[in-house]
Amino acid sequence: MTANGKYYTMDHHIMNDIEVQDMEKNYELLSKEAVMHGPLEALFCCIGNPVIGNPTQLMMEAAFRAMLFPARYLTCTVTDDHVKGAIDGIKALGFTGANVTAPHKVSVIPFLDGLTESARLSGAVNCIIRRGDSYIGDNTDGKGFLTSIEVIKPVKDMNVLVIGAGGAARAIITELALHGAKEIVIANRTVEKAQQIIDRIAPHVKTKLDKDALVRPYRIKDDYDLVVQATSVGLFDPEGSLDITWEPSRKQRIAADVVFNPVRTHFLASAEAAGATPVDGLGMLVYQGAIAVSQWTGKDPDFLVMKTSLEEAFTI
Ligand code: NDP
Repeated sequence: MTANGKYYTMDHHIMNDIEVQDMEKNYELLSKEAVMHGPLEALFCCIGNPVIGNPTQLMMEAAFRAMLFPARYLTCTVTDDHVKGAIDGIKALGFTGANVTAPHKVSVIPFLDGLTESARLSGAVNCIIRRGDSYIGDNTDGKGFLTSIEVIKPVKDMNVLVIGAGGAARAIITELALHGAKEIVIANRTVEKAQQIIDRIAPHVKTKLDKDALVRPYRIKDDYDLVVQATSVGLFDPEGSLDITWEPSRKQRIAADVVFNPVRTHFLASAEAAGATPVDGLGMLVYQGAIAVSQWTGKDPDFLVMKTSLEEAFTI
């Protein structure tokens, strides 16, 4: 159960106590039946280091329970020298899927049996999916981000500025390009990293890719439809700021931050003050998880159940 027992039915009304108790009982029964009569519960894990403080397990467990999908999800600390062993273990134990977080999103790749296009182009894996006896690496970070934008507006033909050139930026740029963004400028403190992303992705997409040096203060030009803050600046730091100024624009700009804690960042506040529509990092986090659950189970989980479980996790 989530911390305050909040669950939603599929029509999104909050379950009352009796409905939650019934669901808990049914879920427990399903787990027992799985052990005694099979098929066994599906197994999942999140591997990374550090992983303490990563709320993915709580979000996934809430989703599985609300779907009455019998499963176990573990959070596992895996050191650099055990990445291969961890993947061998996942395969040997017949896990249905896994999440991969920092610092293993790249180092895990040689031990997998294949990659989706998103994972291949972005060069990073955050989600492992079992297909028969093969374990395929996918990247749902970028897809989760894309969904959080496309509930507002399609990214096709957009002019985009992505600030940052780390793993999250790479996944986002890949997905924006695969979905027809017209032009993406990558502004990063270390400009060579922006160039590396361009070299990797440009041969495979039609999107025009360019780079810029992220200097302080950084002036955001008026011609972007979407501005993405994809650096780690502001994470766990409500005052953390890139020292950005916004040129006035007649466009209805969207400004998205990948940082999810705090949900309301300095960047989003400045974007909103400049007239942009703000999109926080929590949506990306929930959507990337929801996309993973859909791939693992073949069913769509309840977005609100997952979002609520995360919001509650951040208050623990
Ligand atoms: P990386 O370490 O791979 O990249 C960090 C990026 O931040 C680089 O571009 C780096 O620039 C830049 N950066 C760091 N400090 C500064 C600074 N002081 N000034 C300017 N730029 C800076 O991290 P990730 O890409 O994996 O993660 C970035 C953020 O995205 C994190 O906050 C993470 O929590 C969040 N995230 C959110 C997700 C979600 O679902 N909402 C999913 C995944 C990540 P340089 O290259 O010059 O060092």
